[in-house]
Amino acid sequence: MPAQIHLFRCLKDNFGVLVHDPQTGATAAIDAPEAGAINAALADKGWRLTDILVTHHHGDHTAGIPDLKARYGCRVVGPAHEKNPIEGVDAAVGEGDSVKVGALAAQVIETPGHTAGHIAYWFPEEKVVFVGDTLFSIGCGRLFEDTAETMWRSLLKLRALPDDTRVYCGHEYTESNVRFALTVEPNNDALKRRAEDVRRVLAVGKFTVPSMLGEEKQANPFLRADVPAVAAAVGLAGKSAGQVFGELRERKNRF
Ligand SMILES: [Zn+2]
Repeated sequence: MPAQIHLFRCLKDNFGVLVHDPQTGATAAIDAPEAGAINAALADKGWRLTDILVTHHHGDHTAGIPDLKARYGCRVVGPAHEKNPIEGVDAAVGEGDSVKVGALAAQVIETPGHTAGHIAYWFPEEKVVFVGDTLFSIGCGRLFEDTAETMWRSLLKLRALPDDTRVYCGHEYTESNVRFALTVEPNNDALKRRAEDVRRVLAVGKFTVPSMLGEEKQANPFLRADVPAVAAAVGLAGKSAGQVFGELRERKNRF
């Protein structure tokens, strides 16, 4: 039976996500921005929390862990290679490890850059990936603990997943990301279509997440640093994709 996925707003612009296995009743929260919103979402759905899958150590992804663990006795899975310890982690995981949520199986993909030990959880059978703050729709995370070159390699790992993978990220930043992306590739048809979609979705108060990875590959400039037209657009024709990516990230920081 396919997973049931429930997406909801936490804090100011974070997403909370619950992944429910209808076969076993297991339910995982992807990150724990705040206990209150996650408790409310669990009550809404009538699900009981069994696991928390943490992508990285930042407080807006971990603050809810102690309360949730005390209340549900849930297992906490987190990245093995973060510099800052994450309170309450029971199972530290890294590249290629598998993580079960009931009968649902995820593979861990290490995606350093935003933080040194950031990980993503890919559920191949479910065609869904939870990318935390590494990849956003039409954007990517800031480089807090690693280099542009490292982050670019992390994004290439995510880009290698199948086109029909649904991407769940940690924040609703899509509108600003689209405005920036259009300064890089104003004539990219896939990007223009995505801009229209985003406008329509936000106008009716819905979320722009999840997005389809195949569409991100066509429209997200941070997944396109090795496209010659993108390199040329930022004045770096012929330079390495890592350099082009770094320039894109710098420009977005100033945007
Ligand atoms: Zn973060």
